[in-house]
Amino acid sequence: MIMVQTIQLFIKETMALPEKSPYLSTLDLELMACSLLNIERSKLFSSSIVLNKEYKTRFLSMIKRRNDGEPLAYILGMQGFWNLDLEVNSKVLVPRPETETMVEDILLNFNQKNLTVLDLGTGSGAIGLALKKERDGWDVYCSDLSTNALRVAQRNSVKHNLNVHLTCCNWLNAFKPNNFDLLISNPPYVEEGDIRLQSDGLRYEPFNSLVSGVTGKEQLIAIASSSKRYLKKRGYLYLEHSPSQFEELKLFLEELNFINISEILDLNGDKRSIKAQKI
Ligand code: GLN
Repeated sequence: MIMVQTIQLFIKETMALPEKSPYLSTLDLELMACSLLNIERSKLFSSSIVLNKEYKTRFLSMIKRRNDGEPLAYILGMQGFWNLDLEVNSKVLVPRPETETMVEDILLNFNQKNLTVLDLGTGSGAIGLALKKERDGWDVYCSDLSTNALRVAQRNSVKHNLNVHLTCCNWLNAFKPNNFDLLISNPPYVEEGDIRLQSDGLRYEPFNSLVSGVTGKEQLIAIASSSKRYLKKRGYLYLEHSPSQFEELKLFLEELNFINISEILDLNGDKRSIKAQKI
C-alpha cells in the first residue's frame, strides 16, 4: 500500500527531526506551507492536504534556508508592516515592529492634510508607504542610495497603489532646503563589531542597511546634522536608533537647537526612536 503524505504530517515529522535547527518553528513551517501552496493558514487545520513530490522538493529547500538561519520574511518574500503586506528580499532590511511604533507616534501626532514627508533610507518602502496609506493627502518621498532597494519599494508602491516619489540619493543631498514637515529615518545604527551581526537573521540582511561604522552612530549624527537644513521651520525629525544611543543623540540634538525632544518606546519598553522639532 502506498502511503500518501500530507503536509500536516510532514510538518510534524520535520519538527521531530533531531537535526532541525532552533531557528525553525512549527509556525514557520505552516507559513512556508501556506506560501508554497497559496492557501490560507486555516485550511491547514480544516482538511488534510496531500504533499506531492514537486511541492515536497520546494518545501525542503525552503526548510533548509530557514534551518540555516535565513529570515522567514526572505523565504516567503513577504513581511507584514503596519497596514501593508510588503514584498521583501535580501536587498532590503526586514521591516520590524520597533519601526511600527515610530509610525504609530507620527500618526497619533500628525493629522494635518497636506504635509510633505521624507522617509530617508526607505528600503522596502515600509515607513513611507505605511504613512501614505494612512494619510492620502501627504506628499511622501521615499529615498534610498540602493537602486535594488528602490526597485523593491517601487513594486510595493505599485502593489498597494500608493503614489510616492522614489528618489535615489545619498542621504539628503538631492532635496531642496526647508522642504519637509517630517523627516523620518531608520538608518543603519549597528556598530561594525557587534556580535549580533552573526546571529539568526541579521547575517542575511544587507550589511549597509544595518551597520553604520565603528561606533554605530555615524549615520545618525550625519542625518541629524544635515536635517535642519531640509526641514521646514517647526518641522519634526524622527530617527530610529538603538536604546543605548538615546542619551547622546538627545544631547546632540539639543546642541543643534532642536526643541521638544522626546523618546518613543519600542514594544520592549526601550527607547528606540527620538523625535525633535526644528525651531
Ligand atoms: N533594528 C535593527 C536591529 O537592531 C537595526 C536596524 C537598523 O540598523 N536600522 O536589529
